[in-house]
Amino acid sequence: MAEVPDIDAAGLDAGSGELSQQVQVINELKEFTPELGHAIDERWGIADLGFDYNVVAVFGSQSTGKSTLLNRLFSTQFDVMDESARQQTTKGIWICKARGSNTLVMDVEGTDGRERGEDQDFERKSALFSLSVAEVLIVNMWEQSVGLYNGANMGLLKTVFEVNLQLFQKQNAPKTCIFFVLRDFTSRTPLEKLAGTLINDLKRIWDSLVKPAGKEDAPITDFFDFEYVGVPHKIYAPEGFDKAVSELRERFYNRRNAQYVFKPVYHKRIPVDGFPHFAASIWEQIQSNRDLDLPTQQELLAQFRCDEISKGIYERFLAEIKPLRQKLDVGKVVDELGEVTQKLTQTSLEAFDKDASRYAAAVYKAKRADFATQMYTALSVLFVQQLRNLHKTAIKMFNDSLAHSSKIKGDESEFAHKLQTSNFEAEAYFKKGAEAAVIPAAGWTYDEQLSLFTQELTEECNKQRKEAMARLAKKLETDMTEQLQEPIKNLLTKPTRMLWPDVLRTIKTVTTSITSTLRHSLEGFEVEPALVAEEIKKTKIRIWDVAMETVKSELADKHLLEKLRESFESKFRYDERGIPRFWSPSDDIDGTFAAARTKADELLTLVSEIKVPLSELDPDVVESKHIKETPIVMLSVAKQEDIRALFNREAHGQFVDAKRSTVATEAR
Ligand code: GDP
Ligand code: MG
Repeated sequence: MAEVPDIDAAGLDAGSGELSQQVQVINELKEFTPELGHAIDERWGIADLGFDYNVVAVFGSQSTGKSTLLNRLFSTQFDVMDESARQQTTKGIWICKARGSNTLVMDVEGTDGRERGEDQDFERKSALFSLSVAEVLIVNMWEQSVGLYNGANMGLLKTVFEVNLQLFQKQNAPKTCIFFVLRDFTSRTPLEKLAGTLINDLKRIWDSLVKPAGKEDAPITDFFDFEYVGVPHKIYAPEGFDKAVSELRERFYNRRNAQYVFKPVYHKRIPVDGFPHFAASIWEQIQSNRDLDLPTQQELLAQFRCDEISKGIYERFLAEIKPLRQKLDVGKVVDELGEVTQKLTQTSLEAFDKDASRYAAAVYKAKRADFATQMYTALSVLFVQQLRNLHKTAIKMFNDSLAHSSKIKGDESEFAHKLQTSNFEAEAYFKKGAEAAVIPAAGWTYDEQLSLFTQELTEECNKQRKEAMARLAKKLETDMTEQLQEPIKNLLTKPTRMLWPDVLRTIKTVTTSITSTLRHSLEGFEVEPALVAEEIKKTKIRIWDVAMETVKSELADKHLLEKLRESFESKFRYDERGIPRFWSPSDDIDGTFAAARTKADELLTLVSEIKVPLSELDPDVVESKHIKETPIVMLSVAKQEDIRALFNREAHGQFVDAKRSTVATEAR
């Protein structure tokens, strides 16, 4: 037990006055103060104590030294009647925290022993109020008024008993201790004797009251415990007064004292943080003369306080999630979201439990669930935003990784592989992030968001695949053109007998290489086998077409004439050694001319028809080009005749020139 300073608080305790200043809970107009909450929290600093506090109220006629006693006992500063002026102190109920103890002391003023009547209303109301909140009622009275059955004190006690019956008939109420303090105690009559007289009077009052059904025979001691103490005259027996007061003080302060007054059974079980609200609503009920139903009041208090407690914690909670929200609002994925929010709801619920669990269990449980739901609702907004950010980030990740690898030119099958892994990675990223953001207790799901995500991912994937296929097609087209045109042109520049087998071989080589790349890539993109086969067929035909176009452009009139001319001239204008001829009359111009023309003619015949066995051609090409037989005609007979005619005109010109040159030589 803390050391209690023994000072006369009425005037000397100015230093700590700030700490324990009294509050007029109910003023002379019977209004309840709005300041009690502030006093409990700030001034007295006991709001966190839960049930660890006590309440004592003092009753008794005016000017019987109540306030003087309280100030001595608890080092409070209740107003004391000014000796010189003999002025009455303000009526009402005052409350003050005892120094050095978590005891709230209520000084109930206003009962005037001489003039009752108007005061009876207040007396009844203050009795109801005190019984609802206080564990111990001190009844302060002169020794000499003991036995005056019709005196003011007995009237008061009758009221107390009546309202007690009214208050607590609905429940098994906690007992209340009625503590008689007999003032100006002289010891002439022993305390036990005085107590006996009081008990008799109390029983007579009790018996005269109408009890609720089922409690008709209940003894008064079912509801009250009684204590008695005599306190000598403060001025005429100061030493006796001091001794009695300090003994009494022990009983109110020292828990280990055998006669400690605040027994747990007396406690009204109102957590101290709820005391102001509870007291106020009790008073309001009393004032409006409504039936005071304490269980209902306790439940209402529980609701009110649980709401207040959760409100305070929720505000802090909102402040804590604000930075997360800001990050999410700018599109960031907050990796630690699930962890942080889970921890936050947990600590918030713990904080709620700490204060709210002291209130009515059913209310507390329901309010706790409400509070959890409130937090989950706020967090679900973050959760959904996180899912949205995960969605966007994953899609971006997917496209970025592919953008990078599509720049690396080359085998598109590599890209196809990358497409697969990127797809897998993006989906795994989303799922993992979504799972981590869930608060299990909140019962959230993300199926819908996941399906939206996979849908978009699939679309992106298809887009990427399409683009990659287009790139592939373009690349293959370039490749095949390059691989076909040069070699075929070369072969046709100076055609040999092996011209067509060589051309076919070139086509075959290109076909093999291009279709194998194509097949590999398409399989990588998981294109259906039937479609792959179709694409390969198309490509073969395309290769054939490109090859044929190349051939045909080489066989265009101008080119073909050139080739024929070259062939003819190589024989007619140059000798076997490649030296230009100078014709002499002895030369066989006619014979050479005929041979040269035959050579050119053979060339024309050679290039006019692709002469290879049908089996050498690709079946797909044969089928699609409706090739029924070989040779395949490149130049029709009519065309050949046209070309031949053109060529002959040139050849004849050269022949005539040759003849003339010999005539000229002869003439010299
Ligand atoms: P309250 O109205 O009951 O709160 O009484 P107060 O504490 O204001 O005191 C009323 C008067 O009684 C004051 O003048 C006190 O000095 C005086 N008084 C205080 N204690 C005692 C006491 O033990 N015996 C007597 N006879 N008077 C006292
Ligand atoms: Mg007083």
